[in-house]
Amino acid sequence: MMRIWGICLLLASVQALPTKHLNHNATEEQEQEQELEEETSHWNGDINLQYIQRIESYMQPEQDACHDFHAYACGNWKSVHGNVSTMSLSGSHIDQRYVHLFERLLREPQASEHRLPMFPKLLRYYQSCLALDKPRLRHYLDHLPPRSTDHWMELLAILGRYGHHEHYIRITVAHHNASRHIIFMQAHVHELKMTLTPNIYFALRRHLDGDLPSLPDLRQQFKQLDATLYRLSQSESINSEEENFKTYTLNQLQQELPGLNWTHALQLKFNATYDGQHQVQVDELPQLRQLIDFLNQADARLLRLYSLSRFLQYLLQLPHNPLNNLVNNRAPSSVECVQHMRKTLYLGMNYAYEHIYYAKQRATDERIIFRVFEELKAQFSKQLRLNEFGLDANLLSALQQKVSGMAINIGNMPHNASEQFFREREQLWQATGDFYLNHFKSLLEYNAHQAEMERTTNATLKQLFYSFSYHGPSMQDNIDATPYFYCVSNIIIMPYAYVQLPFYHAQFWPALLYGDLGNTLGHEMLHTLDSFFVDFDAQGVQRDYGDQLRRYRQYVAGIECLNSTANITLNERTADFSGTRLALHTYLQTPMQRRQHGRLYFLQFAQFFCGQEADESHDEGSVRLNYTLSQMPEFAEVFNCTQGTPMNPVERCRFW
Ligand SMILES: [Zn+2]
Repeated sequence: MMRIWGICLLLASVQALPTKHLNHNATEEQEQEQELEEETSHWNGDINLQYIQRIESYMQPEQDACHDFHAYACGNWKSVHGNVSTMSLSGSHIDQRYVHLFERLLREPQASEHRLPMFPKLLRYYQSCLALDKPRLRHYLDHLPPRSTDHWMELLAILGRYGHHEHYIRITVAHHNASRHIIFMQAHVHELKMTLTPNIYFALRRHLDGDLPSLPDLRQQFKQLDATLYRLSQSESINSEEENFKTYTLNQLQQELPGLNWTHALQLKFNATYDGQHQVQVDELPQLRQLIDFLNQADARLLRLYSLSRFLQYLLQLPHNPLNNLVNNRAPSSVECVQHMRKTLYLGMNYAYEHIYYAKQRATDERIIFRVFEELKAQFSKQLRLNEFGLDANLLSALQQKVSGMAINIGNMPHNASEQFFREREQLWQATGDFYLNHFKSLLEYNAHQAEMERTTNATLKQLFYSFSYHGPSMQDNIDATPYFYCVSNIIIMPYAYVQLPFYHAQFWPALLYGDLGNTLGHEMLHTLDSFFVDFDAQGVQRDYGDQLRRYRQYVAGIECLNSTANITLNERTADFSGTRLALHTYLQTPMQRRQHGRLYFLQFAQFFCGQEADESHDEGSVRLNYTLSQMPEFAEVFNCTQGTPMNPVERCRFW
C-alpha cells in the first residue's frame, strides 16, 4: 500500500510522452516553431474555422467512424506529422520559447528582464551549458566538499545532498501528504547496478591521481560488491513479520539499528540537528540491519570508489544531462540546454516562462478553465449523490470531500507567490561560468529545499510550497507535457504545455473547448477515485477506501467489466471511461445539443489520441479512443452507429 505514492505522479499523467520525441535536432525544432508561428498568425482572425480545417486535414472521412473512429478522425495524422504526438509538438513549442527568450536577452544586454529575479542567473547557466566542449566528469568529483573521516556513511550523506541515494542505504525526503514531508529510509535499490564505463573510470582515476586498480579489476570488484548488496537487500530470507514499513522515532531507530549513529548521519545529510523524538519512516528494517553490519566491516576504500562511481553514473543518467551528448562528441544544442535547465531549475524556469509568456493570458484562462472545472465538479458531486453503488454514508461523504476539495493549478507555480519570494529563492543558488558547479548548485538547492520542507514550521512557506508540485531534477518529461492528478495534494496540475493550441484556446467554441479541456479535466478528476488513488483522502492521507469499495458487488462488477479486455493499467482505463462520461454529461446533455455539436466535440476529443504511442501506463491512442467512445451510447447516437458495430456494442460497462 505504502509504495503507491512513489508512482503517484507517473501513473497519473493523462498521456505520457516518450522522451525520444523531445530529442529531435534543432533544425526540426526550428521548422516546427516556424510552422506554429505561421499557424497562430493565421489564427488571429478566426481561430475556430482555421482550427477545424486543421482537424479535417487529419481525417480520413472514407473510413467508417462506427467501425474505427481513430482511423476516421486521425487516419491522416502520420502523413502530416510522422510519428510525433500532439504532446511532443506542444512540448517542443515550450522549449523553443525558452531558446528565443535567452537568445534575445543575450543580444539585448539592456533588456528590462536582466533586472528581474532569476533571469541573470538563468542566463549565466544557459551560457555555461552552451560553452561545454568536452565531457569532464572529473570536475564533478573535484567540486565535492572534503570529508573528515573515511566512513562509508559520511560520503553517502554528502552525495545524498545532490539527490543521489540509490545505493547502500536510501535516505530521502518524500512529499507525504497535503501538508507534510517525511524522511524515508530504505535498503539499497537492488534493481540498479554499477556499470563502470571507461569515462567514469578515467574520471575517477584522474580525480585520485592515478591511484586505482585496472579497469577490468575494478569492474570485477564492483560486480562482487553489487552481488553482495543485492543479496543483503533482498527480502526472501527475512522474517516477514518485520518486513513492513513503519514509523520510528530516531531514539527507537538507534536501538533497532545500533550500527550507525543516526543523528550524526542525518546531520551530515541534511545539515540540521534532529532530536531523538523526530519521526522517520523505515521500510525493510531487517535488510537495513544486514547491510549496515556488512558495510561497517567491508573494505572502506572499495566502498568509497563504488560510491563515487555510482554518483557519476547517477549524474549522467539524470534526464537531459548535456554531458551525454559530449560523450558522443556532440556539443549540446540550445534546445538541449533548455531541456536540461527545465529539469534542474524548475522554479526559476517556470518563473521566467510565466513572466514572459503566460502572465498576459492567465486571467482569461483562469476564468474559463475554473468555470469548466467547477461545472464538472458539480456534475461529479451530483452523480456521486445518486449513490449507484449503494455505499454507506461515511464512505460516500469521504469521497464527496475529495471531489469538492480538489484544486487546480495552471502552470504549476506556487500560488500567489510574491516577487519577494522569488528574490529570496534566488539567493539560495548561484550561477557561474562553470557548468559543473552550476549543475551541482542547482541539485543542492533542490534537495536542501526538500529537507527544509520536512523541518519547517513556517506557515507561509508551507502554504506556498504545498500549492504546487515542485518537480525534482529526475522528473520524467511527460509530467511537464500533460495535465496530471497529484494525489498527495489533491490537485490537478495543468502545465504550460497544455494551455495552448491545439488543446486549448480562450476563443474556442464550446464544442472544441469541452472536447479537449472538458475531457482532460474529467479524466484527471476521475483519477481521484481510480483503483490506485482512491485510497488517498482529501488531505492526501492514505486510507482503506479501495478495500471498503471492494465490498460492494456493483463496484466490483464495474471494475471487472472495464478490465475484461486487455489494457495496460486499470486506473487509466477507469479515468478514461468515467472522465469521458462525466464530460459528456456536463456538456452534451440533450439530444438537440448532441445533434448540433456532437460531431465536432468527438473529433476534438480524438485529437489528443492522434499519433499517441503506448507507454508503461497507457494503451496506444487508437485503443484508448475507440474503447472509451464505444462505451458511450451518446457517441453511437451522434454517428448513427448500428447496434453491434465495434463502436456501438450490445453490452456496455457501468462504473462511476
Ligand atoms: Zn490518467
